[in-house]
Amino acid sequence: MAADRSFGRVDLVKLVAALFVIANHTGPLTSWNKEADFVLTGILSHLTVPFFFLASGFFFFRPAKDGTRNKPPVKRFLWRVGGLYALGLLLYLPVNLYTGHFGPGLTVGALLRDLFFGGTFYHLWYLPALLLGTATIYALRLRLRDRTILILAGALYAVGLFGDSYYGLSAKSGALSGFYAQLFDVFGQTRNGLFFAPLFIALGAYAGSQAGDAGREGDGGGRSARRYGGLFAASLALLLLEGTVLHRLGLPLHEDMYIALIPADYALFRLLTARSSRSRRRLRYMSTATYLLHPLVIILVRGAAELAGVQTIVVGNSFVFFAVVTALTLLIAAALAILALPKASRKPGGQRAWVEIDLARLDHNARALREALPEGTGLMAVVKANAYGHGAVGVAKRLYRGGVRHFAVAEIGEAVELRKAGVKGDILVLGYTPTERLAELIRWKLTQTVIHADDARRLQAHGGRFKVHVKIDTGMNRLGEQSGNDDEIRSMYRHSRLEVTGTYSHLAEADSLDPADIAFSRQQIDRFRRAVALVWSAGLDPGRLHLQSSYGILNFPDLEMDLARPGIALYGLLSSESDATRTRLDLRPVLALKASVSRVHPVKAGESVGYGRSFTAASDTMIATVAIGYADGIPRELSERGGSVLIHGRRAPIVGRICMDQLTVDVSGIPDVRQGDAATIIGEDGDERITAGEMAARTGTITNEIVCAMGMRAAKRFVPEAGRRPARKALAGLHALR
Ligand SMILES: *Cc1c(COP(=O)(O)O)cnc(C)c1O
Repeated sequence: MAADRSFGRVDLVKLVAALFVIANHTGPLTSWNKEADFVLTGILSHLTVPFFFLASGFFFFRPAKDGTRNKPPVKRFLWRVGGLYALGLLLYLPVNLYTGHFGPGLTVGALLRDLFFGGTFYHLWYLPALLLGTATIYALRLRLRDRTILILAGALYAVGLFGDSYYGLSAKSGALSGFYAQLFDVFGQTRNGLFFAPLFIALGAYAGSQAGDAGREGDGGGRSARRYGGLFAASLALLLLEGTVLHRLGLPLHEDMYIALIPADYALFRLLTARSSRSRRRLRYMSTATYLLHPLVIILVRGAAELAGVQTIVVGNSFVFFAVVTALTLLIAAALAILALPKASRKPGGQRAWVEIDLARLDHNARALREALPEGTGLMAVVKANAYGHGAVGVAKRLYRGGVRHFAVAEIGEAVELRKAGVKGDILVLGYTPTERLAELIRWKLTQTVIHADDARRLQAHGGRFKVHVKIDTGMNRLGEQSGNDDEIRSMYRHSRLEVTGTYSHLAEADSLDPADIAFSRQQIDRFRRAVALVWSAGLDPGRLHLQSSYGILNFPDLEMDLARPGIALYGLLSSESDATRTRLDLRPVLALKASVSRVHPVKAGESVGYGRSFTAASDTMIATVAIGYADGIPRELSERGGSVLIHGRRAPIVGRICMDQLTVDVSGIPDVRQGDAATIIGEDGDERITAGEMAARTGTITNEIVCAMGMRAAKRFVPEAGRRPARKALAGLHALR
């Protein structure tokens, strides 16, 4: 499964590629041998940018876990890379102003060409090309198959080639040279987001759809590694030949685009992704920073050398110049990477196992849900079952601060707990409250659901004045007065001691887009509307109306109600990750579950691990014991269903049976695991992530059940906001490019 794997070798090679780009811009071998420098900077270094495009296409268009096409988050991508481009433009603006790049002769056309294609500074063209190329392939993938896209992108590349290193051939034909004269007028040169980037981005996307197979070949990808290694070597030879011949013949106008780059870069990429390897976020970050910053360092080094009067040594010798620029750039890039990306999987002191709750994400989800609803519809946050395992008090208080004034819980005990902790706003008890506890409703100013007409009579008979919401049963057949029992429905609003402030119902099948199920939901909606109309027409006030839970919001966002009652979606989850919904919101999981490694030890081939000896090591295996078990909410059957945890940003399969307080994982492939290291059971570590949805899918349940069971015992900890300071966030933006 491509989506489950990391490709650290790609990160490493990207950093090396960034050094080749520095070479391209400093010509390290010129002082020694012009021919050798041409081979390095005129041919080999051009492998780099297509490689960046390929990697970007691969990661952006990675298929979903089941191998189907994903709908990638295109808006986020465009924002992030667009932001990076804006940063680049700003960074080089002073230089451009100083050199008179935006001189008085600048036309609007030239400026637009510069922004969309040229990038205003010599290396920056990469970013608009990435934006344009990715948007192009994204649009094509909505309609066309991979193969058709590759042919189209290949045709564009061919047009590009004849305006680049094969231009000498075009120049010989009058019609062609006229065509290219016009093309250059619009684009400057053909190495851009239209003629150059799309092919490699499409190849990256294609590699993503193929890469899944490599891991399944059974030999850990060894066979495809050999195949692509051979293809890479052959293509490299072809590339050298192509570059040299074209150069000798004097055909190139620019030396950026070659035919052999296509197989060479594709083979190299497939070679590097044939096997999974630990992802290296900091290296990836450094390669982007290096790419972005090295021209600035070149200017600085030249300037400093001039000031210090050491030009002949530093700048005069091309190799020394390259080395100084490289060292300085890497130093800056490494410093930024360390500042921007704190080490993953740090643990809070003194905890065996813990739940991390990211309240900023809770805010984000509440905002996303509110924006999906009509203007006048507010949220009633469902915080029952300890806010689905997220900690009801912390969640409710945070949402209240964000403007949420209505909360719902399952039973009175939960409501009282919130009030005792100081939670303000309306709290609705969704379920039945026994007569013995009715007085507490008044004491704690809670709102009770009237479960049917007789229930209203029970409350009226009790004596106190109750605030209530009336529930109508429109087809769920769980709680509520049956829709259609018109007299009974009206009676609930006429009790002298009941103040009805709301009326609601619950949809039974809002999570399905199946036409029959949609028809059923529509019928429920109609029944609810009819009941409300009945109340109005009797001159009674139904109060605030609410009907939709999470899936009701996602699949019926246009309903005009006063409130909506999201639960699971507030926590950034869907009940099942594979559910299709009409509205797709950017929901972010709020909860992570982590635990400490308590022991790491080798087990010999043939030895068993754990209760029932259900796991026997096939070969010598390194086992880590993690201090968390089913008493902490981890489904016991997870071990037999391919479950794993993350340690040092990599997946460690769970082996042997899960115990009440401990579980064992195979860490043979992960070096340096020690006692006290953090293991992530749900959440992110480095580039890897395990979702509650994945765990639910493995164990045949819904995410709701998984998260509700979390942290019955594990101590809760709220993620401190300090790690999300804006400056650090901005710095971390460089990491967006992969
Ligand atoms: C639990 C519950 C909700 C919230 O449901 P989600 O699917 O988690 O959004 C809403 N309304 C009622 C009556 C519920 O019991």
